[in-house]
Amino acid sequence: MLVTLWGTRGSVPAPGPATVRYGGNTPCVEVQLIDGTELILDAGTGIRALGQKLVREGRRGPIFVLMSHAHWDHVHGFPFFQPAYEEGWQIHVAGSSHSIKAIKDLLYTQMDGLSFPVEFGQLRAEITFMDMGDSVTRIRSATLQLGMCSHPGGCCCFRISDDSEGTLLHATDNELRAAGRDGEARRTTLAGLCEGVDVLIHDAQFLPEEMPTHAGWGHSSYEDVIDMAAEAGVKRVVLFHHDPDRTDEQIDELSWRARDYVAKCGHNLICDAAREGMQFSI
Ligand SMILES: [Zn+2]
Ligand SMILES: [Zn+2]
Repeated sequence: MLVTLWGTRGSVPAPGPATVRYGGNTPCVEVQLIDGTELILDAGTGIRALGQKLVREGRRGPIFVLMSHAHWDHVHGFPFFQPAYEEGWQIHVAGSSHSIKAIKDLLYTQMDGLSFPVEFGQLRAEITFMDMGDSVTRIRSATLQLGMCSHPGGCCCFRISDDSEGTLLHATDNELRAAGRDGEARRTTLAGLCEGVDVLIHDAQFLPEEMPTHAGWGHSSYEDVIDMAAEAGVKRVVLFHHDPDRTDEQIDELSWRARDYVAKCGHNLICDAAREGMQFSI
């Protein structure tokens, strides 16, 4: 599968001269499966440029937009997704049983003619909503395993294995140190999903020293992500969902510190900070 990052920023778009290298768009990851199927993970503002590319290419195959949760930074790009405005596109908006109703309601509400000039019902593509259940599902050549993250309001992670190819785990908006029995259980489940994963895209919004003052906010630090990934034998970690206040220089520093931590612990994995435009095949 071919993975392209179109939005890497958490919480709110952060454009400007201080964020040009890592990007200011909110979460959106494109996954092209080996059979050509288009998966899009979340509809942050990164989906705008991705939609323009898909229209330019004119392939018109079905598009599956997999929504991790209904927080605005993951849905507010949808009204700017060009294929939704054109006849001939089939768009399946998918979510877990836990979240799909909230996501559907939210997509309709944010395009109600009051907060946005075009109403959802005026979109010309064929748009359906798909309940993926809570555990394992199949989309074309891919097997998807769903897991619950620790995040206010809930969030879903996706483990995607393409037939005879590699495996990606996308876990945005997750607090690995979440307290209590639920927090521990979810961390254990996620660590299990990490087994056999080639690339883990994971939330690392905060620095380790910022975690004590942000407990319960639903995000992680690079140390927590690296510890879990190394334990499970993940080959590559991509640190994702950057804080909107973090400049390019500060993300460079976060990235160096993360690599130092990997070396200091003697782990055998590659670690990068997510960057808009970053592309890798798995
Ligand atoms: Zn978020
Ligand atoms: Zn969130």
